[in-house]
Amino acid sequence: MSTIDWGNLSFGYMKTDYNVRSYYKDGQWSTPKETDSEEITMHMAATCLHYGQEAFEGLKAFRGKDGKIRIFRLRENALRLQSSSRGVMMAELPVETFEEAVIKAVKLNERFVPPYGSGASLYIRPLLIGTSAQVGVKPAAEYLFVVFVTPVGPYFKEGFKPTPVAIYREYDRAAPLGTGTIKVGGNYAASLVAGDKAHKAGYSAVLYLDAKEKKYLDECGPANFFGIKNNTYITPQSSSILPSITNKSLMQLAEDMGMKVERRQIPEEELATFEEAGQVGTAAVISPILRVDDIAEGKSYVISKDGNAGPLSTKLYNKLRAIQCGDEPDTHGWVTIVE
Ligand SMILES: *Cc1c(COP(=O)(O)O)cnc(C)c1O
Repeated sequence: MSTIDWGNLSFGYMKTDYNVRSYYKDGQWSTPKETDSEEITMHMAATCLHYGQEAFEGLKAFRGKDGKIRIFRLRENALRLQSSSRGVMMAELPVETFEEAVIKAVKLNERFVPPYGSGASLYIRPLLIGTSAQVGVKPAAEYLFVVFVTPVGPYFKEGFKPTPVAIYREYDRAAPLGTGTIKVGGNYAASLVAGDKAHKAGYSAVLYLDAKEKKYLDECGPANFFGIKNNTYITPQSSSILPSITNKSLMQLAEDMGMKVERRQIPEEELATFEEAGQVGTAAVISPILRVDDIAEGKSYVISKDGNAGPLSTKLYNKLRAIQCGDEPDTHGWVTIVE
């Protein structure tokens, strides 16, 4: 353990001591129990493998200056998993069972929670899958909920720096009335080809347009979008984006700071008017956007004129991170302290 170089961890999987599991059978969820096995054994006709009955979550735990461990927005993640479950007809896990399993997984792997000030954190990955066999297209009768954790390094190793993103009009991530609003693996599968193309071309992500009109900004592959102008935080309203808990938190903080907050359709051309913009999600909190290139149209919108993160994005980022690790008071009740 003394060999973990907290500051140089990547966003990858590292084996920890335990994961925690709960099984749904005969209409009942079992009490969450730990195991040290990294494997899952299931039927080859399990619905998660064939019909995509799968949903996941992503949240983090942080070590404070006081030594305490804080989990950020535990309940919100539990509720979102329920919403995802309804979306692909899986059994809903009670909020209390989700909370119990996550807290248990964090406690049992306490030695993997990075120290305060390292910039690293403990990433928590809850997963829910349909496990019983079906060949016809029908939901499973049995489900497995598993929570594993893995320490992850600071997202910005070279500082809080803006990166370019690309619009590729020949790809969609999710349909307007499809599964974009729920956190299912299928949306990620659908984003891999465009994402890989973007990374190879030097972009940090793809910024998707609404699939129907190709007119409004939707979100990035794994992160929501926001723009800032005239002291206003503006984020897309759309029926195909995932309700990011980070975005929701930032909207609240922007309001607390006296900014205006707007959730509405954002036409692509409005990019030209933003003073700041960013991608938001649990992994980075905010990843500032340098420039948006609409490849097919040959247009380029420069957001950051000097190559640095803007002042309001920086302020929002610092504020959220301070609440997460307990440096600032948790006035909205977002943090669960692991006792
Ligand atoms: C998970 C996810 C996000 C970010 O959500 P957070 O709750 O902020 O981590 C954004 N977009 C998509 C598509 C996601 O799956």
